Amino acid sequence: MKISKVTPMTMGTEWRNITFVKVETDEGLVGIADSRIINRTEAVIGYLKEAVPRYVLGSDPFNVEQLVNRMYLEDYGRAGELVMTGIALIEMACWDIMGKALGQPVYRLLGGAVRDKIKAYANGWYTVERTPEEFHAAARRVVERGYQALKFDPFGAGFYEMDRAEKVKVIGLVEAVRDAVGPEAEILIEMHGRFNPVTAIEFARLLAPFQPSWLEEPVPPENTAALKKVADAVAPLGIPIATGERVHTLFEYRELFELQAADIIQTDITHFGGILNTKKVAAWANNYYMLMAPHNVGGPVSTAAALHLDASTTNFKIQEYFNDFAEAFVKEAATGLPEVVDGYFALPQGPGFGLTLNEDVIEAHPQRTSLHFNLYAEDWQRRQVKDK
Ligand SMILES: [Mg+2]
Repeated sequence: MKISKVTPMTMGTEWRNITFVKVETDEGLVGIADSRIINRTEAVIGYLKEAVPRYVLGSDPFNVEQLVNRMYLEDYGRAGELVMTGIALIEMACWDIMGKALGQPVYRLLGGAVRDKIKAYANGWYTVERTPEEFHAAARRVVERGYQALKFDPFGAGFYEMDRAEKVKVIGLVEAVRDAVGPEAEILIEMHGRFNPVTAIEFARLLAPFQPSWLEEPVPPENTAALKKVADAVAPLGIPIATGERVHTLFEYRELFELQAADIIQTDITHFGGILNTKKVAAWANNYYMLMAPHNVGGPVSTAAALHLDASTTNFKIQEYFNDFAEAFVKEAATGLPEVVDGYFALPQGPGFGLTLNEDVIEAHPQRTSLHFNLYAEDWQRRQVKDK
């Protein structure tokens, strides 16, 4: 079996462009993938334009180890977010094809299921004013939907440090969310790499009374020693450090593991060269007793890919999910994904990812070429991004 055609197509939504890829074979099987590529959609499509004829067409979709290695190595230049996203889109679609060819769900090809349901946490639910009242009401809506875990960034447009009044405001927002969800739900604090180490450590201390289940990306992603400084200071508070959505290769994880600078890694399959690389990094993390909580901000196919990985990974912790709080058509672009019920996904069905792509839905919502989602702008949490 050989890959005969690759078709990228991008769907515009309120705050994201989601790029889908359809990979066809000479035997008539079709595999799909998707990824949200933040603010650089055209660059990944441009990468695929060059890489697909060079590496993908004519390849056997079962040979993902060889295909990914060639795409990574034989261009010579170092691969980062853009290239590892392009590679992932192809690799994920190959797994869908393999599952369809064998009549099996993908998780059965990754070692088989080690759990019978997959815990989820909600994100993208606080598209409201940054006030305790509005955060409280929005958090209530999440738990009323059955979620037992939710994540939010209460820090506005903060960067490196915050003044005293802003810190008081942040504490009020977290207090309101804890009050809304009750003592048993998990609240996950997202820092989006905003802070210098001393500010991140201070916030850990200020927010510890609300018992967050993790602090995510407390410092920017480039300096692992700075992250280690935060992790060491925060560990006595009993708050785990999570990071990894902006780590794009296995090599880039080496220092993080050697320093044991985090407790939870958040690899994004769609920005890490795909499912097999993510499976490898999960196994590597397990040697340090670290847990895997895959980052996931894409459409239904990247969510399905994550669920198949989660189902088959022993040190999996919890799965991020946005699309219960996004426009309904995001889910309709590919149907067949289980819904979150009482805070959990059921195991995904096969064969392959178990989804059906609906190209008419994608075509009805064209790519937004001037969309800029800026996490350092005031009121970014509203996720209402206007075209420039
Ligand atoms: Mg994050």
